Amino acid sequence: MKNISNNPGLYIHIPFCDTKCGYCDFYSITNHSSRSEFIESLLKEIRFYGCNPANLAGLNKSVFDTVYLGGGTPSLLTEFELTLIFEELNTFFTFSANCEITLEANPGTVNKEKFQFYKNIGVNRLSIGIQSFKDDELKYLGRIHDSAQAVKTVEEAQNAGFDNLSIDLIFATPKQTLDDWLFSLNKGIALNTQHISAYNLIFEEGTPFYKKLIRGQIFDKSEQEQERFYAETMSVFAKSGFEQYEISSYARSDKYYSRHNYKYWDHTNYLSFGPSAHSFWDGKRWSNVRSLSAYIRDLKDAKSVVDFEETLDRNTRIFEKIMLGLRTKKGIDLKKFEREFNIPFLESYATNNKKLLDGALVEITDGYFHLTQKGIMICDEIIADFIPN
Ligand code: SF4
Repeated sequence: MKNISNNPGLYIHIPFCDTKCGYCDFYSITNHSSRSEFIESLLKEIRFYGCNPANLAGLNKSVFDTVYLGGGTPSLLTEFELTLIFEELNTFFTFSANCEITLEANPGTVNKEKFQFYKNIGVNRLSIGIQSFKDDELKYLGRIHDSAQAVKTVEEAQNAGFDNLSIDLIFATPKQTLDDWLFSLNKGIALNTQHISAYNLIFEEGTPFYKKLIRGQIFDKSEQEQERFYAETMSVFAKSGFEQYEISSYARSDKYYSRHNYKYWDHTNYLSFGPSAHSFWDGKRWSNVRSLSAYIRDLKDAKSVVDFEETLDRNTRIFEKIMLGLRTKKGIDLKKFEREFNIPFLESYATNNKKLLDGALVEITDGYFHLTQKGIMICDEIIADFIPN
């Protein structure tokens, strides 16, 4: 995978949305009154790490090769706000010449001029939150756009010269039939983007959808139905020339893998800013407070905004390596695993691995232990068997 590196990545969380989608668990608010205070606080947080690189081993020599502006809805930011953020990042951090710079954009919040501006400030990848091309589904999910706007958004981005575009789609939503899903999927593919993320809806605790589910007002699809949706999804992508390189991620070639997301699956260091943002650095993980008002208040008082941190113990690191590795098509690098943990993977989990190999759920290819098509269907079950006792 020529595009995947060990350089760290940088993430920025923009905690604003126009409305809240019923299924969404990401931290974002619809009250924009503290936008300027947020920007001020974010710049402070960036500056804090930039001025104190010794707090993180190797930070002063790090060359970041991905930047990801996620949320929330980063495309709600004005040119002025984005310029301030980029200026601050460039002042304090070093970025590689081929840095992948992704911005999440939602239809209904962008136009030709904004896309042109994104190009001008160096954004070279867009991730567009479309979810569906059926207007009734979009309404049901709580999205602010309709199908025609979604198509127009992708076309405008393409016309502005973006040649590394991703769209997000969701399947197995409560009222969706398989035909509905295949309609959206095929329409998404026909837009000729380089990357598509296709997610199976999850009822995350605390979301409006979850509350309705608990009250019996809506129903989740059965496991078999969800498997059918997923199997069809993989088959349509395969026929359309997309490579599935991760459970929910499909690219036209490895050139278009999400280099930033790969850092999450590969335990590569990443540093994140903004409320609720998670970071990982040399085996340590931490997250910022999930409240914009607390984030602003603490930064005003020159206090830390970190409200959770853990150093991964050996067992957790091993388990995560297996779990994240199995999510990717390439799988677990057996030599690297042995070098890192000083134990051979195949022998250490001999009984489990034999069962998986005998059942044709996994294969070993060029020194990588990875799921087969059959295994991908029950990925969560397979991973659960590696949870340390
Ligand atoms: S636009 Fe995205 S981040 Fe905002 S509520 Fe909807 S799904 Fe969540």
